[in-house]
Amino acid sequence: MDYSGLFPDETLTSFIVRQLYFSGYPHIRIAQNYYWGSDNLQINSPFPSLIPWISDNYGIHPIELLDNHTCLNYFKPFLGQNKYEPVKQALIDGNVEFVQKWLGITSNRVNEGSCLYYCPECVNDDLEQYGVAYWHRKHQLYALVTCPVHAKELLKIQVTRREVSLPPQRHNEIFDEGELHHNHFSSFSHWALTQSDIDMFDYERLTNCYRIELFNKEFACKSLRIRQKNLREDLQGYYAAELNHAAWQTLFATNKTYPYPSQLFYNYHDCHLHPAKHLALMSYLFSTPDSFLSKYHSANEDLEKHYKSSISVRRRTSDSLKSKLILSLFRQGKSLRNIAKQVKLSVTAVKSKVVAGGGKVKSRASKIFENDRRAILRKLMMGIPAKDIANGLNLSTGAIEQVLTQHPELVEQRKHLRFRAKLVKHRKSLSLAMKKFPRYSRNQLKHKFNASYLWLFKHDKNWLYRHLPSRKQYIKLEK
Ligand SMILES: [Zn+2]
Repeated sequence: MDYSGLFPDETLTSFIVRQLYFSGYPHIRIAQNYYWGSDNLQINSPFPSLIPWISDNYGIHPIELLDNHTCLNYFKPFLGQNKYEPVKQALIDGNVEFVQKWLGITSNRVNEGSCLYYCPECVNDDLEQYGVAYWHRKHQLYALVTCPVHAKELLKIQVTRREVSLPPQRHNEIFDEGELHHNHFSSFSHWALTQSDIDMFDYERLTNCYRIELFNKEFACKSLRIRQKNLREDLQGYYAAELNHAAWQTLFATNKTYPYPSQLFYNYHDCHLHPAKHLALMSYLFSTPDSFLSKYHSANEDLEKHYKSSISVRRRTSDSLKSKLILSLFRQGKSLRNIAKQVKLSVTAVKSKVVAGGGKVKSRASKIFENDRRAILRKLMMGIPAKDIANGLNLSTGAIEQVLTQHPELVEQRKHLRFRAKLVKHRKSLSLAMKKFPRYSRNQLKHKFNASYLWLFKHDKNWLYRHLPSRKQYIKLEK
């Protein structure tokens, strides 16, 4: 048997462990000392520091090791090129100290834990084919409950970071319990590890793709605002069995500003999230990776189509039940205030529905001509403040707000636009400040540019900390 090569999908840990086991030394520790001058290396890491050692001693190119024997490619498309390159280089150099942090494993509080996983059927196959059962990459992917190939529940072994172990080297009896495990998430995770269609995700496109599919499944309204609470509950139901596992409980943890899955839709420009978070939503929304891919590629066009059709649909279906009720009450001669009370809407909302239904209300708002209405709508879509639109068109602010109440989908869209505008403004002003005062400490920046600093601290912390000058080291003066 040839022990000098890596088996298909074998982890680096597994390969290293095999070298120690079959080294011929009387004790593992002696082998470790001989190889590395220490028996204290962290062997059980998804990204061990031994890539240069393996590459030098076994003549395997480091990229080949990264691509086929670590899970780096599973993270890659979610990272962005800027974050991916330093991780790759650090692994090639064997400087793994910050790799887990850079991959977001620590910041997403997704703890990789201290277990290694194996599939009893894969063990049987490996023993037959290679004479040894080894650790597979695909079984170590985050939050996997089943083997992507066999849909069998994965078994685990608790290990310390420095422990040297392989899966149990014995044939397993495979019982067909008749219990079907739903293997969807495992399939998607395995696809993410091995796919070559997506180099880097475009997050705008990705979230658009989610939104449209959520709309199709009635978890988003026409404006594509997501019914986050309903969605979360449904996801929890869908992953009820998985939620018995700690990894899934971490994924759904509630101690965050935006609990899962709403976090996927906010602030994704600044902090990439663990791939498992995206994969859990993808595998819930799409039947296969291929169907996801085709929707992902057409997402931006689909979004445009959606907005076009939903505006015309809105006009056609504007006589919903409530509008009908309001109109009939209005024709009975009831006052707007009275109707508003009865249907639990604001007077303005009732007024606009009456106007939309052809009722004649004495107010400035009703005098808006169709041309103006369209101009207002266009400006509203651009996120221009109502007051400015009113001034520009020589109308009252109330008239603009009336148009807005007829298009509730715009409210959310405008909120988002305003948020982005603020983000850009505050980033710009703090960047300028830092350029102008390069010697300012964090505290001085905070005092002098309090508004932007605070806003960014609240809404854009990752960006802020990435761009602030490094914390000052105070040296204690000796007495
Ligand atoms: Zn298997």
